[in-house]
Amino acid sequence: MDKNTQKSQSPQKIHPYWGFFSTILLVLFLNSLIFPGVFTPSIVKTDYGTFIAKVDSGLVSKVTLENGQIYYTTAKPDEKGKNIVYQTGEMGDASLTAKLLSAQSPNKSGKIQLNRIVPEKNSPIIDFFLMWIVPGLIFYFIWISLQKRMSKMGGNFLSLGNSGAKIYAESEVKTTFADVAGQNEAKETLQEIVDFLHNPSKYTQMGATLPKGALLVGPPGTGKTLIARAVAGEAKVPFFSISGSEFVQMFVGMGAAKVRDLFKQATAKAPCIIFIDEIDAIGKSRDNAMGGNDEREQTLNQLLTEMDGFDGKKGVVILAATNRPESLDKALLRPGRFDRRIPMGLPDLEDRKAILNVHLKKIKHGDIDLDIVARATAGSSGADLANIVNEAALRAVRLSESQVSTSDLEESVEVVMAGAQKKGAVISKEEKKIIAYHEIGHAMVAARQNNSAPVHKITIIPRTSGALGYTMQIDTGEQYLMNKQELLNKIATLTGGRAAEELICHTVTTGASNDIEQATKLARAMVTRYGMSDKYDMMELETINNAYLGGDASLTCSAATASDIDQEVLRIIRAAHEKARNIINNNLDEMHKAAQFLLNKETISGEEFMNIIGTKKEA
Ligand code: ADP
Ligand code: MG
Ligand code: ZN
Repeated sequence: MDKNTQKSQSPQKIHPYWGFFSTILLVLFLNSLIFPGVFTPSIVKTDYGTFIAKVDSGLVSKVTLENGQIYYTTAKPDEKGKNIVYQTGEMGDASLTAKLLSAQSPNKSGKIQLNRIVPEKNSPIIDFFLMWIVPGLIFYFIWISLQKRMSKMGGNFLSLGNSGAKIYAESEVKTTFADVAGQNEAKETLQEIVDFLHNPSKYTQMGATLPKGALLVGPPGTGKTLIARAVAGEAKVPFFSISGSEFVQMFVGMGAAKVRDLFKQATAKAPCIIFIDEIDAIGKSRDNAMGGNDEREQTLNQLLTEMDGFDGKKGVVILAATNRPESLDKALLRPGRFDRRIPMGLPDLEDRKAILNVHLKKIKHGDIDLDIVARATAGSSGADLANIVNEAALRAVRLSESQVSTSDLEESVEVVMAGAQKKGAVISKEEKKIIAYHEIGHAMVAARQNNSAPVHKITIIPRTSGALGYTMQIDTGEQYLMNKQELLNKIATLTGGRAAEELICHTVTTGASNDIEQATKLARAMVTRYGMSDKYDMMELETINNAYLGGDASLTCSAATASDIDQEVLRIIRAAHEKARNIINNNLDEMHKAAQFLLNKETISGEEFMNIIGTKKEA
C-alpha cells in the first residue's frame, strides 16, 4: 500500500527574540572566560600606597602591567612559604616607570624585573564570528531539535493555530466494491457518490448538489470502514482517513486546528474523500447536562463550520462511520451536512455466504458446503466471518491438511462462538453424566416442540470459554421475525437442561447459569418490548439505549409497574420450565439412550440424535 505522507506546513520558524537572547547569554559566558585573573587563584589585592611603599623599601622583585592592573611579587615568601602575587590598580602615575626602573630590588641584578603584557587582539572579523555567529548557530540548532522533540510528543508551541498534524492521504486505494460482499443497498447509494467524483460536471450542469456527507451506521464489524475505503478505490481519488478520537487532543483548540488542517488539505487535493471513522468520539450531542467537554465541543463546532464552508461542487465528499448514531449531535445530521444515512446491517443468510466466499478466495480450500457454515453463523458480522475463515485456515495448518475443508470451518465456528476445545480438562464421571443429561435435556425439549429450530449438534467437550458442553440448533432458513410461540419454545428449550438435572440426576447445578440469563432476557423482552403479555398489551416498558452495541435497555415505567413486570417474567419462565419437565418426564427412555450415546462419543450430530429419539412431537 503506498502511503502518500502529507505533512501540513507548520512553519518551523523561531521567534526572532530567541536568537537575540541566546547570543547575549553566550557572549557573557565567553567573555568571562577571556578576561584574565578571574580564574587565577592566590592573588592578594592591595592598595596603591602599599605597592609604592614596598617598591620604596626595595622588596618588590617583579612587576607586570596588564589591562590597567599591576601584578607584583615580593622577595619574601609568606608564612606558608608561597610566593604571593599582589594586585593593585594603575593610577596613571607618569613617574611610575622611572621609579620602578631606578628602584632597589632583592633580585640578583638589583633591578625590578619589569614587563607589560599587551593583550593580543583577534582580527575584528574573527571576533565578530566567535562572539555572535557561533553562539547564534549553536542556539539555533538546540532550538530546532527541541522543537522537533516537542512536536513529536504531540505538543506544539510557538506555532499555535496550526495543528502540525500528520494527515495521511492514500493516493491509491486498492479496495473496491468487489471486496465488500452483500450490503447492496449501501453500495447503491455510494455508487452515486463514486459517479459524482468521477464526473462532477454532470451533476453541476443539472444544478444538483450532491450530499456533502454520508453517515455509515451499523453494528461493529459490518464493513463500514471497508466500504468507505472501497468508495475511494472505486472513484480512484485520494482517501483521507482519520479516526474521531484523533481529534480529541490534550489542549483545547488543537482538535479544531486539526479539523481546519484536514479540510484545507482535502480542498487542495479535490476531488477526494474524507473519512472520519468512529465519529461519535467528537460528534456526541452537546446538550449533555453533566459537564461539557470544551475540547470536543470546539472540535465539533469547527467540523460543522468547515462542512458548511466548503464548496460542495468541488468534489470533496465526507464519509463518516459510527455504531452509536443516537448519540450524535442533531446539528451534524441536518441537511447540508451528514444528511445521507446509510445503514449497514448484519448480513443475512445469502450475504453471509457471499462474505464467506470473499474471504475463502484468499485461502486454499477444497469443496466447501457454504450453506451449513452460513446457517450456523446467524447473527455474525462480516468481521466474525472473516475471523472464522482465518481460524479454519489456521486449523488446517495445525492439522497439516493440504487445504481447508468444511469441517475446519465448522470447528472454527464453534471456536469463535464458544472458545477452543479444552482437551486437558479432567471432569469426574459423575459430573460428566450430569453434563450429558443437561445437554440432552435441552436437545430433547427442542426436538419435541413444533416451532423450534432442529438440533444440529450436541457435545460435552469442554471449551475454553467455560462452557462444559452445548447444544447447537440451526434454523433451516433465515428468520427475520419470531412469533410468540417460538419465543416461548425457546425459553422452554433453555430450561430443558435444568429440568433434566432435576428429574434424572435429582440435583441442580451451576451449569444452568447461562440458560437462566438467556431465558430471563427473552422473557423480559417479551413483556417490556414485544408487547407479548396480556397484561400490558402494546405498552413500551423498556427502551433500548445502544441498538448496535449490545442493546442494553432501561425501564421507562413506574416502580410499581417494574415489580409487576418481574411477576409477569417469572410467570412465563415458570410455565416454560413446567413444560420442559413434562417433555422430559414423557421421554425418560429416550433420554437415557441418548445420554449414554453422548457419554460414549462426546459429540453426536443432530441426525444421530433424531435416530435415537424418533421424530414424534408433543407441542
Ligand atoms: P466496521 O468498520 O463496520 O466495524 P470493518 O469495515 O472494519 O467493520 O470490517 C472488519 C473486517 O470484516 C473487514 O476488514 C473485512 O475483512 C470483514 N468484513 C466486514 N464486512 C464485510 C463484508 N460485507 N464483506 C467482506 N468482508 C467484510
Ligand atoms: Mg470501523
Ligand atoms: Zn444448558
